[in-house]
Amino acid sequence: MSRFFSKKYEKLVPYVPGEQPQDRSYIKLNTNESPFQASPKAQARAQEAMGRLQLYSDPYCTLLTKKAADLYGVSTDEVLFTNGSDELLNFVIMAFCDGDTPAAFPDITYGFYTVFADLNAVPYRQIPLQADFSVNAADYIGCNKTVIIANPNAPTGLALPISDVEAIVKSNPNNVVVIDEAYVDFGGETAVPLIKKYDNLLIVQTFSKSRSMAGARLGMAIGSPQLIADLRAIQFSTNPFNVNAMTMAAGLGALEDEAYFKRNCAKIIENREWTTLQLSKLGFTTIPSQTNFILTKTSAIGGKALYLALKSKGILIRHFDKPRLRDYIRVTIGTAEEMGAFIAAVQQILEENV
Ligand code: PMP
Repeated sequence: MSRFFSKKYEKLVPYVPGEQPQDRSYIKLNTNESPFQASPKAQARAQEAMGRLQLYSDPYCTLLTKKAADLYGVSTDEVLFTNGSDELLNFVIMAFCDGDTPAAFPDITYGFYTVFADLNAVPYRQIPLQADFSVNAADYIGCNKTVIIANPNAPTGLALPISDVEAIVKSNPNNVVVIDEAYVDFGGETAVPLIKKYDNLLIVQTFSKSRSMAGARLGMAIGSPQLIADLRAIQFSTNPFNVNAMTMAAGLGALEDEAYFKRNCAKIIENREWTTLQLSKLGFTTIPSQTNFILTKTSAIGGKALYLALKSKGILIRHFDKPRLRDYIRVTIGTAEEMGAFIAAVQQILEENV
């Protein structure tokens, strides 16, 4: 830290992204990316957009917004696009939290929530998950804070029933409730239809997972026109051209290829169920996941040791050295071939370990 760094960031603990090592080629099951390429239609649209790079990108993402609004059954003033959903989550904290309106989210959830709250000097309450890692909806009923819940949650993979989401939204009419649906396409239930009923509900989605566009950076908010207008004010006060032209075009192409998207989600679900079954045969306990990753553990080997052993075999997974998570590993679901290699490596490690 230089002597020029603002004192207001003195205590900032930046987010630690999953490893992206370049030293050798790994089977990468550590950052919840898709193992599939972006749709050919998305790639073709991005290619076309490269011929127009001399122009600023459209700050309203007009064509993309129209397509998304049609697809999700909402109007165009209920949608806003951002540079990944990480940017959107920062906008959310900037727009809907302050000293009088703290944030509330689970103690075990996406690590960026605390980082964005700290960055914006927003107080927050981390509400413990239950013993089985589920969110207790009752903890958020009438809590008078800006609620942020990843549904399904990460890194647990567990989803809250939509009736619980509605109860939370309904009981906090004077606060925004943010439902981060980064993983909803892998078996969760979206709360998007509820935005017509509740003006305090904001849905956050991403193109990084189910639409295979993590490297393009595209996030999407769906909520009442008033909430979207607030977020638009933050967008235009930070970076109006936040979504670049190639990503915007790729996003449109991705939404034009629902068949490809649905096929890939189905493959991930199938591979997840297969992997969970194989792990159970090897003595692992896996939290039932509705996402493109699983959280799993065995008494035969600790989480960190297993992470290191897999890494030495060229397979990257994620280990969180934190209370309650330490025994587990989080494994992103890849192709059938990758998951076969993962299971074979785990089996080998367990045999070597006895
Ligand atoms: N929310 C959750 C719950 C996530 O796990 C992630 C990805 N790590 C994000 C949001 C951010 O995704 P992106 O910025 O790639 O859209």
